[in-house]
Amino acid sequence: MLVKRCSFWYNIIGNITLLFRVSGMTLGDKKEMGEGIMQDYKKIDYAKNKDVVLRYIPGHFVTPNSHVNYYMDLTDMKSRQREARATGEELAEMYMVSDVIDTILCLNSMEVVGAYMANKMTKAGIISANSHKTMYITSPEYNTSGQMMFRENNQHMIRGKKVLILIDTATTGETLLGAIRTIGFYKGEVVGISAIYSVAAQIGGIPIRALYSNHDLPDYASFETENCPLCRDGVPVDAICNGFGYSTIK
Ligand SMILES: [Zn+2]
Repeated sequence: MLVKRCSFWYNIIGNITLLFRVSGMTLGDKKEMGEGIMQDYKKIDYAKNKDVVLRYIPGHFVTPNSHVNYYMDLTDMKSRQREARATGEELAEMYMVSDVIDTILCLNSMEVVGAYMANKMTKAGIISANSHKTMYITSPEYNTSGQMMFRENNQHMIRGKKVLILIDTATTGETLLGAIRTIGFYKGEVVGISAIYSVAAQIGGIPIRALYSNHDLPDYASFETENCPLCRDGVPVDAICNGFGYSTIK
């Protein structure tokens, strides 16, 4: 049912987290996911849907905005059809039928999840105010300076539109703040943020609706690059990570 109110969601999030189950990976999981740092993965199931699984590994990882002590591998959630559909549909459940969403702006390769999310929302009756009465699913371009931008042929998906931002993980919030600012430049209105995992419940006054929170990974930590205690203690970096994945450092 797509009738849950946001406040209701946040009120019960503590209880919901009790429904998650943390477990080690099976041999089959390890084989399919490859070798290297992947071998020690753990996973957190999502009680409401067996096809939603968060995989993570402890270590010392460098992301574009911070250093973190867990790497979350969301590759299968983004790319494997059954998992991407389940992820998108569960994210869609967090919106009300009275919500109006014109565009889902997908960050960090979340387009497949975004498409399933839009499909579920549309079937449930969440409407779009744009002239075609259907949602746009798009992603931004980044220029060589790393600034988010939209070409002329894409700007109509943002200008005057109610935009939902979809991101894989929200930790420092810098990526989301940049997206909110850019959408404002193009005269769009951010009406919601969805994430697979989020540390915060809101950013810039906009609620973040996430499948997983720090309740599920209470010792997850994100450090400023200059003030990382792992670096200070001489702990070697395991991998460089971004929205595309990770690259290990041997
Ligand atoms: Zn570090």
